[in-house]
Amino acid sequence: MKFATKAIHAGQEPDPTTGAVMTPIYQTSTYWQKSPGDHKGFEYSRGTNPTRKALEDCLAALENAKHGLAFSSGMGATDTVLRLLKPGDEVITGNDLYGGSYRIFTKVYEKYGIKFHFLDLSKPENILPYINDKTKLVWIETPTNPTMQIIDIEGIAKITKQHKLILTVDNTFASPYLQNPIDLGADIVMHSVTKYIGGHSDVVMGALLVNDDQLYKDLWFIYNACGATPGPQDAFLVLRGIKTLHLRMKAHCENGEKVAHFLKNHPRIDKIYWPGFEDHPNHDIAKKQMRGFGGMVSVTLKGADLQETFRIASSFKVFTLAESLGGVESLINHPVSMTHGSIPKEEREKVGVTDNLLRLSVGVEDIDDLLEDLEQALK
Ligand SMILES: *Cc1c(COP(=O)(O)O)cnc(C)c1O
Repeated sequence: MKFATKAIHAGQEPDPTTGAVMTPIYQTSTYWQKSPGDHKGFEYSRGTNPTRKALEDCLAALENAKHGLAFSSGMGATDTVLRLLKPGDEVITGNDLYGGSYRIFTKVYEKYGIKFHFLDLSKPENILPYINDKTKLVWIETPTNPTMQIIDIEGIAKITKQHKLILTVDNTFASPYLQNPIDLGADIVMHSVTKYIGGHSDVVMGALLVNDDQLYKDLWFIYNACGATPGPQDAFLVLRGIKTLHLRMKAHCENGEKVAHFLKNHPRIDKIYWPGFEDHPNHDIAKKQMRGFGGMVSVTLKGADLQETFRIASSFKVFTLAESLGGVESLINHPVSMTHGSIPKEEREKVGVTDNLLRLSVGVEDIDDLLEDLEQALK
């Protein structure tokens, strides 16, 4: 099946008891057993729930994976992957990451004796000197948040396979519509479902998608033992959101491209980060591993200090100043004070996360209104 058909149908069948076309919200914590152990595959909703199962199967289908797990947040999903590790293990990751990922690595897991290496991953071979017999996991995000670096998934996967490391890709920015890391050799795909997949800024959720049966069993064990599972109402909302994922992503890509080109030569803009430009350092890899360049664009404001950046960030009328991304509505974010506040100044400035950086999540409103809003805010 092709993507759009899977987005609408995968994991979903008319309800066998009523014929309801939409998956019912199974608002139940527990399930009847005819005699102990004699049940229909559902025992207790921390472990499995039919609404959530439909969503997990749909998400797995979209990522060309065999198994899916939905979590109560993206961070719940990340936490579950990290719980595969034990004290002494080492992780290789990028130097431009979602702030919350950096925070859980350094503030939660370093305390348990796990070591993280934050590297420039623009070339896969950069990880080689850091691999030793304690290395267990490589965690990458591509495109990165917020400077839109592109990491060569296939190139990294070749190395992780050779060294038997688990490669996890945070695929939040691309969404499964634009990029499928498992096809490129990744072991685990992680999503903040809160973003493009949910798509309507009304649900917080995460997901892990995997092919390997044993890895799925290990993750499911932690999932059920630790309990970061979402409720059935949220699962329903995301199933509904996914039905238009392909339509929304097309529109995000179109509007994102127009906004990027509008800003590129704007006199108030200094740097612009968008992987669709030919002079983006890893444009060729973006073209190879993605089916479009998405709706995320970051810029720095020419000669603007923090105060001037705040003034401009607050002067939009259609773009809403808020954290998060990937919803139908356009958002503007100031990473230093919002999403990336937990990353130390020296660390973030190394990769260009400076005081004058703004990140745009270009929504699917009419492009004329978006460009007009940018024009007036950047006057
Ligand atoms: C938002 C986000 C997360 C965390 O997901 P939550 O659903 O907010 O817990 C992880 N990675 C990326 C790239 C994100 O944008």
